Amino acid sequence: MRIDLHTHSTASDGTDRPAELVANAGAAGLDVLAITDHDTVAGWDEASAAVPPTVSLVRGAEISCAAHGRSIHLLAYLFDPDEPTFAEERRKLATDRVRRARAMVAKLQELGVPVTWDRVRRAADEGTIGRPHIAQALVELGVVPDVSSAFTPEWIARDGRAYVEKYALDPGYAIRLVTGAGGVAVLAHPMSSARVPVRRDEQLVERLAEVGLAGVEVDHPDHDDEARRYLREVASELGLLVTGSSDYHGANKPTRLGANTTDPDAYGALVDRATGLEVVGR
Ligand code: AMP
Ligand code: ZN
Ligand code: FE
Ligand code: FE
Repeated sequence: MRIDLHTHSTASDGTDRPAELVANAGAAGLDVLAITDHDTVAGWDEASAAVPPTVSLVRGAEISCAAHGRSIHLLAYLFDPDEPTFAEERRKLATDRVRRARAMVAKLQELGVPVTWDRVRRAADEGTIGRPHIAQALVELGVVPDVSSAFTPEWIARDGRAYVEKYALDPGYAIRLVTGAGGVAVLAHPMSSARVPVRRDEQLVERLAEVGLAGVEVDHPDHDDEARRYLREVASELGLLVTGSSDYHGANKPTRLGANTTDPDAYGALVDRATGLEVVGR
């Protein structure tokens, strides 16, 4: 079984339409795919309607959180999308992304870049808007050669000249929202360079485990062998599930579908914990 539990579509900052994403999962030989767009469930229906017969679809989202001035991403799976408190927070997260992207465009203009809000909005299409869309506009204008090259201190990295903070949830609160909606919460790529350095805040994962965190994304393209070893230890000590995934973004990132995968036992345990929704297909 090949199980990829973290991917993005055009409902946020991926470049595959939701229907293309599930079709590509089938073509890549995946048995299970989770769609986890940033702060939105907008891709779920199109993806569900297009699931190939060989693929199971886990409906999820990647929720923007922050603690101690650091960005933290929380993967949320199989939650009831109509639970009102969580639905309202997703709406606020998505809405504030628009304010923030506009503010970043204004900063770029002050830096002399002829980027317009229209161009960035077009790049995002109907999806929740994010920095990769601003990066795409910078590529179109010839300011940077590719999307990744915009994520530098010169431009839109977290310490970048044109960076603006966005609304984000306290991770403990977000876990309660997810589990309150019948879902399962997994800490995404905890050792990505720009993310929470769990080593320097050893208590964080423990605190999150206490409020209902179910798992940790250990196998992720941003994690080297040492980070993976360390996170496996943390997960084992705290009794957390270990997941693996590609964090596929289509053409916006070099990672391919299935680049990292989740063990079938961990996947089974994750699905067993969910009460909000069923897996689609198979
Ligand atoms: P945002 O949520 O708007 O702050 O944007 C964060 C997103 O930018 C992440 O989910 C990644 O998809 C993308 N991203 C972050 N760093 C890079 C990078 N170095 N190259 C390409 N995409 C990146
Ligand atoms: Zn993304
Ligand atoms: Fe992420
Ligand atoms: Fe992601």
